[in-house]
Amino acid sequence: MLLAGLGAVWGQRAVSPAEYSARRQLMVNEQIKARGVKDPRVLAAMAKVRRELFVPADQRAFAYEDRPLPIGYGQTISQPYIVALMTELLAPGKKDRVLEVGTGSGYQAAILGRPAGNVYSLEIVPELARSAALVLRTKGFRNVRVREGDGYKGWPAFAPYDKILLTAAPPEIPEELLAELRPGGRLVAPVGVDAQNLVVVDKSMDGKTQTRTVIPVRFVPMVRGSGAGN
Ligand code: SAH
Repeated sequence: MLLAGLGAVWGQRAVSPAEYSARRQLMVNEQIKARGVKDPRVLAAMAKVRRELFVPADQRAFAYEDRPLPIGYGQTISQPYIVALMTELLAPGKKDRVLEVGTGSGYQAAILGRPAGNVYSLEIVPELARSAALVLRTKGFRNVRVREGDGYKGWPAFAPYDKILLTAAPPEIPEELLAELRPGGRLVAPVGVDAQNLVVVDKSMDGKTQTRTVIPVRFVPMVRGSGAGN
């Protein structure tokens, strides 16, 4: 009765773990596989990580819907399909060191952490960095490290990275980040101001970069911080 009462106050009923799990499997089948994501490591990660842990309490009932959700501070957790697509494009290997810019909720970092070796994720909003670090730590994502910082400045302490993923859109790819990508590495990012495209940048062994455009996307802008380096 108490739970039912609270549900009424929040305008939603409690969702059981079994029901979340069923919704998660449906999400993988209908939103992700159906749209052509094939990498078994990506599908396994999407089937395993509990997205409801990474969204605010009042959004939890919508955790497996086919859309982005608000996470506070004017930011959003990306649509599940976009998370899966970007992870597939990045193709993190099991020894790879991956830099993410834009931790947000921590969900994309958690997904990256399953196929990758280590994930380092930068978030410019201190409150989001703190809450993402907390959920990742308490839910056992031990190979994911989060810090508050400005992605335009990179994260030199662990560079070079095998893979770099941006989940906020810069007007163009920051040189600092390309410099932290190892030769043979890959960077995936939404790029652009009004019209944005998801791009894949491959850095050859001699340091040259080659860029291809995948699809038009819509991400929050990558903002410039005012602080010191990371
Ligand atoms: N990957 C996130 C979604 C990110 S939304 C998830 O899975 O939930 C984009 C995030 O990028 C926001 O949290 C925003 O605060 C952050 N951001 C914007 N500009 C940034 C910058 N210069 N450096 C680091 N993070 C930035």
